[in-house]
Amino acid sequence: MNVALAILASALAMTAIVGVRYLAASAGFALATRLRHPGLYAGLDRQIAKEIGWSLASAAIYGIPAGIVAWGWKTQGWTRIYDDVHAMSLWYLPVSVLLYLFLHDSWFYWTHRAMHRPSLFRRYHAVHHASRPPTAWAAMSFHWGEALSGAIVIPLLVFVIPIHVAALGLVLTVMTVMGVTNHMGWEIFPAWMWRGPLGAWLITASHHQRHHERYGCNYGLYFRFWDRLCGTDQGLGRFDHAPGGRGTRRAAAADQRRAAGDAGA
Ligand SMILES: [Zn+2]
Ligand SMILES: [Zn+2]
Repeated sequence: MNVALAILASALAMTAIVGVRYLAASAGFALATRLRHPGLYAGLDRQIAKEIGWSLASAAIYGIPAGIVAWGWKTQGWTRIYDDVHAMSLWYLPVSVLLYLFLHDSWFYWTHRAMHRPSLFRRYHAVHHASRPPTAWAAMSFHWGEALSGAIVIPLLVFVIPIHVAALGLVLTVMTVMGVTNHMGWEIFPAWMWRGPLGAWLITASHHQRHHERYGCNYGLYFRFWDRLCGTDQGLGRFDHAPGGRGTRRAAAADQRRAAGDAGA
């Protein structure tokens, strides 16, 4: 097989993997939602169809650079991904996972914050915020322009920072699970975790819910570090179904109108 065909095959395979991973994770958590909060997604069928459409397009945008890099790793010795667990000290395994998550989070915080500038918001990021309220299917519901900014981070990091292939798998799993659960409309994690000291630094659904309520705050992905440092952290949001929750989609629509005025905040 010539090189171009091999690269194309790798890109297609990776697109299929990302797409199937998205469908499986979102379907699993949508089923959990149906069991735990029946009717939470009632009346959202059209929105969910759009979330799936944008997410599958994002799967290709994520899959192509990942497929090219995977081909280079396997056949050309590109990247610093290693598969002998003793190639680096064992203590480096958890450190590499945290380092990747922190760097991914940092990239996401600043690009996401930029996406809230009115011109970029209108052109790209409005697609993601069209989910009101978001569902488990909204994890990769991004305009292609925004998906591109997210798709290059890990394929670039693997050229710079060594990581064991299983640790990389763990990073990608955390990315997938948090992407889905943060948009699910309820907390899957125990309250002691997200309300307690750990939740002061880790992002779960309640934190990202506030971003979807108010727009100009809570830009982070995994950690509250940058939001807290930069004064953009506005605490935890509430869910429509929760006692004292925000109640209606009308309230969300009012937030949307308000945000249209201060999307750059
Ligand atoms: Zn979101
Ligand atoms: Zn946003």
